[in-house]
Amino acid sequence: MVARFLILGAGFAGLELSTLLSEALGDSAAITVIEEAEAFVFGYSKLDVMFGRATAASVKLPYRAFVKPGVVLRRETVTAIDPVARRVMTNVGTHDADVLVIALGATYDVSTTPGITLGQNEFYSVPGAFHLRDVLPTFIRGHAVIGVCGAPYKCPPAPSECALLLHDYLLTRGMRSDCHITLVNPLPSPVPPSPETSKALIAAFAERNIEYIPNRRVASVDASRKVVALDDGRELPCELFLGVPKHRAPDVVIATGMTENGWVTIDPRTLETKFPGVYAVGDLANTGAPKAGVFAEGTARTVAANLIAMLRQQEPIAKYPGAGSCYIEFGANRIARVDVDFFSGPKPTGMFHEPSEELRVAKEQFGSSRRARWFGH
Ligand SMILES: Cc1cc2nc3c(=O)[nH]c(=O)nc-3n(C[C@H](O)[C@H](O)[C@H](O)COP(=O)(O)OP(=O)(O)OC[C@H]3O[C@@H](n4cnc5c(N)ncnc54)[C@H](O)[C@@H]3O)c2cc1C
Repeated sequence: MVARFLILGAGFAGLELSTLLSEALGDSAAITVIEEAEAFVFGYSKLDVMFGRATAASVKLPYRAFVKPGVVLRRETVTAIDPVARRVMTNVGTHDADVLVIALGATYDVSTTPGITLGQNEFYSVPGAFHLRDVLPTFIRGHAVIGVCGAPYKCPPAPSECALLLHDYLLTRGMRSDCHITLVNPLPSPVPPSPETSKALIAAFAERNIEYIPNRRVASVDASRKVVALDDGRELPCELFLGVPKHRAPDVVIATGMTENGWVTIDPRTLETKFPGVYAVGDLANTGAPKAGVFAEGTARTVAANLIAMLRQQEPIAKYPGAGSCYIEFGANRIARVDVDFFSGPKPTGMFHEPSEELRVAKEQFGSSRRARWFGH
């Protein structure tokens, strides 16, 4: 009998996993992917749209173009997951699986941060980033706060990138001298595994007169008083808030009882949950490594390798490496890279590569290669 694979979510992890399974198994595979959104959007494209560097239409990659042998992508919303029976309910019906992979990503929890509203004053959701594109031109003087409301959050360098890109945006419009930019982040440094990267980012903030407040998170936003409160009680003036909401696994996953402190408990090297035949990959899995697309892909590759090995009656020996490279926008059209490795040594490391023209091209290739691999164009 053909094994039925059910993959929930078609983000970085779900797209890569279903692509790898399709490549290995072809038409004989029975792979169902459940995804509620109409289109995939790369995380970094949110910053591009927000700062007017790309149009919303150009960064949406419609799922109708995701066509792979042996794979059916259903546009449905997952409403309940029974990990024991490996049965999933959606707004349309019920799906049973032999192998269930949960790849629903992280969701945003605004309930604990008064004054932050999804789709309005945060740039981590697609609607939020697209909305802020229209808000930014109205900000011509005063205080802008880029504020993170909790850790862990996706793509640790992204708030730093946002601060540097906001600087460029205001400079180009001749408004920079009338505006103050503050970055608030609960992490002790911009990119904790890489002191060199953090040092370079802190130097870039200093050169641009961007105030940087580490080790603090935003506790609330009061638009009427135009202030942001930090978790130590301090208040910052704020005419423009660009927020990163607190993250956690989606409610439908938390309801399964698979999570601890908001994230799915897995074996960090194999992504297996405590339920036989059930895996969790990508941002919602508590691997101990960062939450980023390239890491989500890594979890998917590990699970794919082991599933394919098992189908071929071989030993499933793949182990998630917890390593990956992240590109970092340094402003002024310069792009750097940090190669992060969480599991090889006694502590996480991150090798910094200075901004260069080569890295700009490499970042473009990072996006275009995945676009071609998953969406065929
Ligand atoms: C501003 C910003 C910049 C970033 N920059 C980078 C970068 O430069 N490099 C990098 O590697 N990463 C970057 N990231 C992080 C990256 O986008 C995520 O880490 C990555 O998308 C995680 O992949 P995933 O598959 O786990 O989850 P996701 O990509 O979030 O996919 C989850 C999918 O599940 C679907 N889903 C959720 N709930 C349901 C449901 N109930 N029913 C059906 N479908 C559902 C969602 O619609 C979504 O498509 C950035 C993120 C942001 C916000």
